Amino acid sequence: MKTVIGLEIHLQLKTQSKLFCSCPTEGYREASPNSLVCPTCVSQPGSKPFGVNAATITQALKIALALGSKITDAKVLVQRKHYFYPDLASGFQRTSKPIATGGALCGVRIREMHIEEDPGQYDLRKGTVNYNRSGIPLIEIVTEPDMDSPDQARQFLDELKAVLDYLDASRVEPGSMRCDANISISMDGKEGTRTEIKNINSFKGVYTALSFEGARQRSMLKNKLKIEQETRHYDEAQGITTLLRKKESADDYRYFPDPDVPPIEISQTEVVQLKKRMPELPSQKRERFRKDYGITEEEAFTITLEKPLADAFEETTKKVPAANAARFFRGTLKKQLNYRSLDYKDSSLSPTTIIELLSLLEEKQITEKVSEQLLIGLLDKGLTPKENAQKQGLLGVHGGKEIEALVEKAIADNTNAVTDYKNGKPEALHFLAGQVMKQSKGKADPTIVKKLLEKKLAKE
Ligand SMILES: [Zn+2]
Repeated sequence: MKTVIGLEIHLQLKTQSKLFCSCPTEGYREASPNSLVCPTCVSQPGSKPFGVNAATITQALKIALALGSKITDAKVLVQRKHYFYPDLASGFQRTSKPIATGGALCGVRIREMHIEEDPGQYDLRKGTVNYNRSGIPLIEIVTEPDMDSPDQARQFLDELKAVLDYLDASRVEPGSMRCDANISISMDGKEGTRTEIKNINSFKGVYTALSFEGARQRSMLKNKLKIEQETRHYDEAQGITTLLRKKESADDYRYFPDPDVPPIEISQTEVVQLKKRMPELPSQKRERFRKDYGITEEEAFTITLEKPLADAFEETTKKVPAANAARFFRGTLKKQLNYRSLDYKDSSLSPTTIIELLSLLEEKQITEKVSEQLLIGLLDKGLTPKENAQKQGLLGVHGGKEIEALVEKAIADNTNAVTDYKNGKPEALHFLAGQVMKQSKGKADPTIVKKLLEKKLAKE
């Protein structure tokens, strides 16, 4: 049995104003309901769209170029797609024909991408609609069914998120991305029946929904049950998918050309300009980091997933050896950020404070363990590393007199362990070292502690 997965990703494009009117897109979540609207985006009788917002096309073209897609040189028709819910007051959704086709990311082929308008937000329980979001430009990226596991889908989406971050073309905050996922299980080379999971609202949700749906289909096939072609809903709270409706066909959408919006003309001059101004992309940065800084593939991968993090790393290498900086960025720093579900850009960190912290480590004024403690103080309380270390007395101890005293104390307090060690039980040394580390509150360097212990025990 082989899993076959394809994705349709809807992303809000970063523009000042909505797709067909001049209402702002910024802050639509925080604004009071229905305050960022005009007759056009709530389709009042007699209102007309202004024509397609040019910034939308620019942002979409940037994404297409970054994915290596072929941009159409024909005029792009805007269509009306029949829409069944009250969050689009017109009763249809404006959606364009593909503006680009082909391309690939992480070995997953892109089928096509087009632009469309975001619906408003319908609160099913209250029966109210907030149209602030209605008309915000979206890009829909459709992949070929090239992924064979939920893990691969997650990797693809992580990389896509990084590309969007580098391009500054799309909003990547929660709720700005929605995904429909197609999944089927093929058996003995025969194509399986696919189901479509609708409106998954987070990248993490895609993984959970696909894992559940894949397991459901496999278990049905094992029990010789027939899988129906259907649309399923992803229940985020429970991490399961449930039947939404039997699959509609394209006919149900009743597409027809929108008489109010002229076809989009893509300027090939702009395409050439955009190509020239294309920023360095994550995969290119990764390669450069490995070459220029001699860091490992894993380090380069983690550091470049977020552009501000990659920038901070480069800045740090001006004062700290790259190998040490990379180890800290991929290890301690990423661990503490993940623990707080924090992106680097949303943290209080800066290259200056990171350099201050790592310099203490370079000068052997602190141990790695203390560096993590100082990072936590920095992240949670904004305490600058040096000051914090001084206040807590964490500086300059390492293997000095204080540690020597602790080693002597550990030997005096644990006579049993000392006897064990002398009787040829090396693990007794680990125990003694552990006692010293504990007493030093992490300030002691484990290698020095071990050496000191061996030296003292040999003399006894
Ligand atoms: Zn408007």
